Amino acid sequence: MTTHEDKPLNMPYAWQKRQWQAFEGLLDTWKLPHGVLMSGPSEVGKYHFAMALVARVLCQSPVDGQACSSCKACLLVGAGSHPDFLLLEPESKGKAISVDAVRGLAGFSAGTAMLSGWRVMLINPAEAMTHNAANALLKTLEEPGKATLLILIHHQQGELLATIRSRCQQFLFPAPGLDQAIAWLRDQVETDDYVSLLEAAGGRPLRAARLIGDNSLEQIKQFETMLDNLTQGVLSPVEAAEQWKFVAPTDLIEWMLAAQTKSVSRAVTKKLLPARGHFVFMDQLLFARKLLASKANPNPQLLIEELLSGWRQRESASPK
Ligand SMILES: [Zn+2]
Repeated sequence: MTTHEDKPLNMPYAWQKRQWQAFEGLLDTWKLPHGVLMSGPSEVGKYHFAMALVARVLCQSPVDGQACSSCKACLLVGAGSHPDFLLLEPESKGKAISVDAVRGLAGFSAGTAMLSGWRVMLINPAEAMTHNAANALLKTLEEPGKATLLILIHHQQGELLATIRSRCQQFLFPAPGLDQAIAWLRDQVETDDYVSLLEAAGGRPLRAARLIGDNSLEQIKQFETMLDNLTQGVLSPVEAAEQWKFVAPTDLIEWMLAAQTKSVSRAVTKKLLPARGHFVFMDQLLFARKLLASKANPNPQLLIEELLSGWRQRESASPK
């Protein structure tokens, strides 16, 4: 099978065919909406898909429904300097997208296209917008400029204003099935156990490849050993939080989510009913992740301590 890594810009991933066909249909019938919301877990390739769509919309001579990757527009998109494309991202990871940045986007949207007729804007991720920024965006969504496309990537980790959601057409990007994910991973990284790797990555293939790339898989294994020690009472949640404070809290939460998903699915495989506490804990993890993605500014060390106690109490919270 061929991978898409040698043609990064114009082709979606194999597991995104259905979504791509939907956009092709909309483009062919001139029904592309002004606002598009791409929702799904992080690291399943939404950004890649969005860029393939940006290239396709701006391309001057698409081939077989895809950007040609050789016209002037494609080259400019590839170089990140197409005058009719604006990418809005936080300045650094974890930072917010400000109201000023969104106002700049409104100005861009109201302008006229320099090259191909379309003006395309991409916000990645939408939950990084401050409340004021999100409100400022509403105006652009309500009064879109002519031939404009605004794409919002949403990792479903933080809240998104309902008023924004309702003004966009939503497309879902779930994690791919195991077979498809493994087929892709085999071409990217080498490991002796692809299933465990994907499990550690919460089923998200790009994340799985990254875990190998930055050697965090070994760290995750150590973290899981620590979780076992925690369960057995060898270690207290406060000690554990202290030991692991060198890792970003967002990563620790992802690791706990993957470990938790794994223990629930193993119980189910053995036809055991997981204690109710497992689901309470899962909610606690998802809430903590949302809290960190929001601008609520929680105390991360304390948050991790609470989650680690939650981990230890999962079994005991079953109703009896
Ligand atoms: Zn082109």
